[in-house]
Amino acid sequence: MATTTTEATKASPTNGEDKQSQNLRHQEVGHKSLLQSDDLYQYILETSVYPREPESMKELREVTAKHPWNIMTTSADEGQFLNMLIKLVNAKNTMEIGVYTGYSLLATALALPEDGKILAMDVNRENYELGLPIIEKAGVAHKIDFREGPALPVLDQLVADEKNHGTYDFIFVDADKDNYINYHKRLIDLVKVGGVIGYDNTLWNGSVVAPPDAPMRKYVRYYRDFVLELNKALAADPRIEICMLPVGDGITICRRIS
Ligand code: SAM
Ligand code: CA
Repeated sequence: MATTTTEATKASPTNGEDKQSQNLRHQEVGHKSLLQSDDLYQYILETSVYPREPESMKELREVTAKHPWNIMTTSADEGQFLNMLIKLVNAKNTMEIGVYTGYSLLATALALPEDGKILAMDVNRENYELGLPIIEKAGVAHKIDFREGPALPVLDQLVADEKNHGTYDFIFVDADKDNYINYHKRLIDLVKVGGVIGYDNTLWNGSVVAPPDAPMRKYVRYYRDFVLELNKALAADPRIEICMLPVGDGITICRRIS
């Protein structure tokens, strides 16, 4: 396709703007983030997500919506994305850190083959038990090995046994953001070469680009520096390829390459 004059004009440095800053800035060629528009997001949900959402996920989403901490749940479009990703990479042995009521867990369990496995960890069993009857009814509870408690000691135990190294096809991390770097140090040994780790909330409510003195909720401010540090560390890690997607609150997909 021929390049239009407008695109060509916008792509070249103009008005004294120095070439380097031009190269680093995103170029405005009509693809500003979709997430700037509530209407477009609603369109995605109504056109592509809700009509294809399994009944069990809808039920779990509705139960979770009544829970006081429902802000923590994975969004329906991200659930659909995770389900697709797991199928695309043919995952069988998986892990999830941060379960809450189990929306992403159910998205994972439904995507796995009958003999697929999920090692699922959360410090809170009560919330998991809210979703469990729905997961059982969906016929996928046998794939889940739920461990109540902090994830880090479990990971340490797994790493201590070399047999576990390189055995996970897919890992979803959606828990305490101040531990993501600690998780990464361990998960990189546990995921297989070619396997995928997804770190959730890497755009952290948009706060990653907010000025330090901008008004922010207390928990957003507290975790912000950890998310910024993680994003830098992932971008600099030669053992992985990465792709940061503006799905949900931002998810960074890491593919282990060495
Ligand atoms: N993936 C979930 C979903 O789809 O609904 C949402 C997870 S929620 C954002 C974060 C969860 O991490 C909470 O349920 C919390 O109890 C859990 N969590 C916090 N610290 C943790 C830790 N150290 N180890 C394991 N889980 C932890
Ligand atoms: Ca999340």
